[in-house]
Amino acid sequence: MSLFKSDINKISKISKIIKQSKIFFIAGHIKPDGDSIGSALALMSVLNRIGKEACVYSVDEIPKFVKFLKGSNKIKKTVKKTDKFDCAIILESVNFSRMGDIITPSQTKKIINIDHHLTYTDFGNVNYIVPSSSSTAELVLNIFEYMKIKLLKHEAECLYTGIITDTGRFQQVNTTPDSHVASAKLMEYGVDVNKVYKEIYENRSINILKLQGLALYGIKTILNNKVSYILLTKDMFKRTSTSEEDSEDIVNYTIRIDGVIVGCVFKEVDGKTTKVSLRSVRNFNLLKVVCEFGGGGHKNAAGCTINAGIKEAVRIVEDILGKKLK
Ligand code: 5GP
Ligand code: MN
Repeated sequence: MSLFKSDINKISKISKIIKQSKIFFIAGHIKPDGDSIGSALALMSVLNRIGKEACVYSVDEIPKFVKFLKGSNKIKKTVKKTDKFDCAIILESVNFSRMGDIITPSQTKKIINIDHHLTYTDFGNVNYIVPSSSSTAELVLNIFEYMKIKLLKHEAECLYTGIITDTGRFQQVNTTPDSHVASAKLMEYGVDVNKVYKEIYENRSINILKLQGLALYGIKTILNNKVSYILLTKDMFKRTSTSEEDSEDIVNYTIRIDGVIVGCVFKEVDGKTTKVSLRSVRNFNLLKVVCEFGGGGHKNAAGCTINAGIKEAVRIVEDILGKKLK
């Protein structure tokens, strides 16, 4: 795979820290996705296999579609304030708060920061940041390869899950030759691609489909049909007996409409808080929008939380997009 010299330097430092450490903390971001959980579980399994004590943490419930991954039932929510770690591996989180503040920096001797977002900060002892990488999973695979660690089938499936979920099954603009090369290597380790695909995309509950139906029925376009949006209210979750983690796929429908440049999903958190998920096509950089609200992500997939009710949040985003799309 195409590794820059600076990447190799960083990976070599990561490898040294891993060898020197015994007790590991591993976490991705709040409201975790397939890449966050897949990468974290692969790391946990490999570290355990080479004699380390390692556990994955997530304050939020993990999505149902990653529960088939081995080790997902071992994920813990919290640690004691008195717990200490030799090394914290923090994945695709711009800072400790995005990781859920499960630990403070003072609880760990070393911090390894691995990220592929454009909105990153260098909070680690090593910061292995590659925004051009499709997924954290690809970066984690680079580390294993450098350390000459062969993967077990279930570890390869964790990383493969990260790549296919973050590339939209190799269709999104972040898909690179490296994504395919990495996937080919993971298949050599025995990944059953059809099984993983079925688990992730075709093992959903009927309620999730009903939520999608409700959401899609209400889709609207604004700003000369250049922007589409979907509202997900608390009532819609209640009517379909679903929760927020069941809705992550819906935003991808918003840019399926011909001519739409930006697609938005507004999720009602409470009367004064709305979570916004955005997708864009071509060169429209969503970071120009989410940065105004302290959000983050990538050029074509980003998110933020707006301190306003759902209708007001739509108005605010419409206003900003109206200016940026001129
Ligand atoms: P999604 O719309 O699927 O929740 O997120 C799209 C991308 O934006 C993901 O890479 C996700 O990590 C990032 N993202 C979503 N919301 C936030 C946020 O509030 N803060 C930051 N830093 N990144 C976010
Ligand atoms: Mn990711």
